[in-house]
Amino acid sequence: MSSTATVNARRLGQSESGDSSKARLHRMKVGDLIRVRISRFDPTKDQTAYYDEYEVPYSKMMRVLDVLNFIAEDLEQDFAYRWFCGVKKCGTCAVRMNGREVLSCWESAEPEMLIEPLRHAPIIRDLVIDRAPYENLIGRLMPWLERKDAYAGWPERISHRDMEDVTNALDCLSCMCCVSACPVLDLGDETNFSGPAPLVQLAQMALDPRDNMDRGALAVDVAGIFNCVSCYKCEEACPVGIPVVSGIIEPLKAMAALSRPGAARHSLVFADIIQKRGRIDPSELILRTQGLFAFAHLGRVFRLLVLGKINLARTLFGKPISLIEKVRDIFERTRKTKI
Ligand code: SF4
Ligand code: SF4
Repeated sequence: MSSTATVNARRLGQSESGDSSKARLHRMKVGDLIRVRISRFDPTKDQTAYYDEYEVPYSKMMRVLDVLNFIAEDLEQDFAYRWFCGVKKCGTCAVRMNGREVLSCWESAEPEMLIEPLRHAPIIRDLVIDRAPYENLIGRLMPWLERKDAYAGWPERISHRDMEDVTNALDCLSCMCCVSACPVLDLGDETNFSGPAPLVQLAQMALDPRDNMDRGALAVDVAGIFNCVSCYKCEEACPVGIPVVSGIIEPLKAMAALSRPGAARHSLVFADIIQKRGRIDPSELILRTQGLFAFAHLGRVFRLLVLGKINLARTLFGKPISLIEKVRDIFERTRKTKI
């Protein structure tokens, strides 16, 4: 597992803005009052969420979970939150604090705190989300090793190098912070995307050299992997520092492209344009992936033109960037490495 220092370094801009764990721990003195707003919602009674506000005296090394426990136990308030191990092992205590996903057992308290449930999951009550849809999806990804050769018996000889890629995925706590942070899931039913956490679970088998199932096909058919736009929000949110995009989703996309080349059209065209021009060209990308269907949404095309997002003149007459040979060299070297 990555060290806390590494994880903190992942939160972009945090150290530049003096927002490290250490800085936060020294922001308050024992006894200072913390202002806490907690999202309340009971789907059996409430139409929308509302917020309750509390004041909690800061104690040394106070965590978000300590604040919640104080409100429940010392202030005797009845609200729902979930935790189990309290030491960053079980992943059940994840919430959003001041707009970012955190494990409440591991995150320092702050002078002002807005605590909300994770996004992109049904709410059972207050801060407790329903994990059943996520867990059912994992079941559909067949989370067991499927071997071609019979199990040779224990001890199974397997090298560190062979297990290196899968080790990151095995660190996953299933906390669902990454699912909450993923902007593609804001689209709801408009995509069939599972979100990042199920892909990390899938990678626990897919990247294991002993597994022989076609996991690339599952990544497309069950998890909708090509809906991921590689924005890295999940990687930034992961409290244990798993390289969710670079170490998990990109290798899975490569497998998926081999299993379902038709579904990988967007990624393959994207790479081809970069190799040809040295930069992305949105209009060529749209035309080559959607073909004439692109003109079925003329309003959207017009908006993109007005906003300068697409430029047909550049598509037709634009030249490659001056350093194009270096870009092509990167592609060539990557190809040789794979062979
Ligand atoms: S990289 Fe992909 S999975 Fe991760 S947050 Fe962005 S869209 Fe979601
Ligand atoms: S990848 Fe990280 S953020 Fe996502 S579920 Fe696993 S531990 Fe949590």
